[in-house]
Formats: sequence, structure tokens, C-alpha cells
Amino acid sequence: MSDKHQVTRIRRERRRRSLTVSERIELSPSMVRLIFTSPDLADFESAAPDDHIKLFFEQPDGERAMRDYTPRAFDNAAQSLTIDFALHQAGPATEWAMRAQPGDRLGIGGPQGSTIVADDFDWYLLIGDETALPAICRRLEELRPGVPVAVVAVMDSASDRFDLPAREGLTVTWINRSEGDEAGQVNAALSLPGSGEGYVFIAAEAEVARAIRTHVIETLGHPRQWVKASGYWIKGQSGSDKNIDD
Ligand SMILES: Cc1cc2nc3c(=O)[nH]c(=O)nc-3n(C[C@H](O)[C@H](O)[C@H](O)COP(=O)(O)OP(=O)(O)OC[C@H]3O[C@@H](n4cnc5c(N)ncnc54)[C@H](O)[C@@H]3O)c2cc1C
Repeated sequence: MSDKHQVTRIRRERRRRSLTVSERIELSPSMVRLIFTSPDLADFESAAPDDHIKLFFEQPDGERAMRDYTPRAFDNAAQSLTIDFALHQAGPATEWAMRAQPGDRLGIGGPQGSTIVADDFDWYLLIGDETALPAICRRLEELRPGVPVAVVAVMDSASDRFDLPAREGLTVTWINRSEGDEAGQVNAALSLPGSGEGYVFIAAEAEVARAIRTHVIETLGHPRQWVKASGYWIKGQSGSDKNIDD
């Protein structure tokens, strides 16, 4: 049996950390980067680019809302953690991020698990909307140098775009959601970026991610075990995430 394409899973103890915003950077009109610091981050671990942490938001009714976000970057020595927030119409996470300023506090939990996919594929195709770009950008920084990577990224409009990490062998295609039929536009733009064995990552609104996954497997004929597809949000529902892999 081949020892290629190993998938390793890590589980960690549940752990809550208390963070303070130290810097706010507007990446684009709809994307804000917050850098947090805390002594609690000295032993923060995140082993995979599509890990997620839980962010906790106290609600006016006393309830606590939890939302999933990607640890975009972290530095144990500097005791810092970076999270990129896609801003949309409403929701506790978006409302908090819109107003967050240095000195503001946030509780987080996790990541409780990491799924590490061996970086031994011949190419990578990374497809996602603004909520997936933190995971995609992290993967662009972490993949081995020179391996062919294609990104297909969806934002509302061209003015929402921001620079992705540069790397040799990278092609980026931008899609504007405002032009309609998001999954259709993405599928029309897709081609596999190399020969040999590739890995496809898809994360977007759940129905959009599902339609892209179907196209990649059924129309492009890509092996389903090398496709990781996730719904990072669900249209019309709060705080839900949905793993749509079979
Ligand atoms: C594993 C994982 C990692 C994620 N990483 C990130 C990340 O790093 N950065 C990030 O920005 N998001 C990320 N998300 C997505 C984020 O968790 C959701 O967008 C979440 O719903 C936002 O919470 P909220 O409180 O702002 O809105 P909610 O209260 O959850 O939703 C309110 C309303 O807004 C809608 N909505 C939610 N998200 C969007 C959106 N992006 N655009 C338009 N409408 C939306 C909902 O359908 C609902 O109708 C991730 C999700 C998962 C599952």
C-alpha cells in the first residue's frame, strides 16, 4: 500500500484563552484583520491551515454566541494570534469585529482538532469565498515551495479583493458574487492546475460548496477522497457549520 497522501488527526484538550486586541488592519472594505496578544498564547497550537477556533461573544440577553474562525497566523514567542474577519450584514461576530479596537477583549477555545494532510500532492486547487480565504492564505504560506497551486476566490465585488501571499507556481482567479450564480461562475472557471495527483479544498456557503464539490468530482472526475469540501456558513442561518463531505 502506498504511504503517500497520509492524513493525520490530532485531538487536544478543551482550553479557553482570553485575548486582547493589539492591532486592527483593514485588508479591504469587507475584510478586517485583528491581531490579538495574550500570555495565554505562549502555548497556542494550530497544526493545519484549515483548523478552526471558537470565538465567544456575550449577548445582551446573557447568552453566549459561539462562532468558528481560522487561526490565520500565530507566534508563540510574541504571544500573538491573527484572525481575519469577513464582514457581512449582521451577526454577533461581524458586529463585534466591525467595532473592535485595541484593548478590546475576546475569549476563544480550541483548536480542539487538526487534520493534517501530507504535503506530497503534485498540485493543489483551493476554492473558497471570503470566509475561506484565511485558511487558503495560510495554506499558500505553508505548502512546499514551487508546487503548482491554483486559487479560485469569491468576493462580493472587485473592490473587496486584497493581496494573497505570493508564491512561485500560483495562479489566482477572482470571481465576483455580485455578478450572480456563484457556483456556476466558479465551476466555469475551474481547471485542474497540473497532471498527476492533486488535492482540492473547497469552503464557502454550504450550498455553493456542495455544487462545486459535485462539479469537481462528477464533471472533472477528480477522486472524491482528495476533495475536502466544507460549508463555512449557511445562507439564512446563524452560526452553523456543516461538513458536506460524504
Ligand atoms: C471551519 C470554519 C472556519 C471559518 N473561518 C472563518 C474566518 O477565518 N473568517 C471569517 O470571516 N469567517 C470564517 N468562518 C465563517 C464564519 O464562522 C461564519 O461566517 C459565521 O456565521 C459568522 O458569524 P456572524 O456572527 O458574523 O453571523 P451569524 O450570526 O452566524 O449569521 C447571521 C446571518 O449572516 C449570514 N452570514 C454568515 N456569514 C456570512 C458571510 N460570510 N457572508 C454573508 N452572510 C453571512 C447567515 O446566513 C445569517 O443569515 C469559518 C467557518 C468555519 C466553519
